[in-house]
Amino acid sequence: MENCIFCKIVAGEIPCVKIYEDDLVFAFLDIGPINFGHTLVIPKEHHQSSSTIPEATAGRMFHVGSRIGVALRRALDYDGFNLHLADGSCAGQVVMHAHLHVVPRGCEDGFRWNWRQLEYAGTADRTETAEKIIAKLKLD
Ligand code: 5GP
Ligand code: ZN
Repeated sequence: MENCIFCKIVAGEIPCVKIYEDDLVFAFLDIGPINFGHTLVIPKEHHQSSSTIPEATAGRMFHVGSRIGVALRRALDYDGFNLHLADGSCAGQVVMHAHLHVVPRGCEDGFRWNWRQLEYAGTADRTETAEKIIAKLKLD
């Protein structure tokens, strides 16, 4: 894909610090890490949205991402990690080539997700919400 910064990284046209590569996925250090070692796992093929990534590639991204999380813990003495994917600009996606963030975490790293917890009006409201989602859920 022309003018995609991550396609250019996969093609070697833009430098990166590579962590892992196979036939389906490519992983490299994020240039602006939440914590040092923060890694991005991307499909080699260009996909803007995670929803169009073929299942085998998506599965590989998750597998590689979680193994990199373990490597970060062991190598850099972290306590855990977050796997994060922003799909759509409203969700915080800035680079429009789907990517899985592997964010190494320390118990005292001072970083907090700004995670709110709304409340459903009641059981009926919750059930109705679920029914709407299920009606539109397509797995092919
Ligand atoms: P998003 O906000 O789209 O989920 O995350 C994009 C991520 O890509 C950001 O964390 C940003 O630091 C990283 N990033 C953007 N441009 C480059 C680049 O040229 N090289 C690397 N290694 N990371 C980049
Ligand atoms: Zn791309």
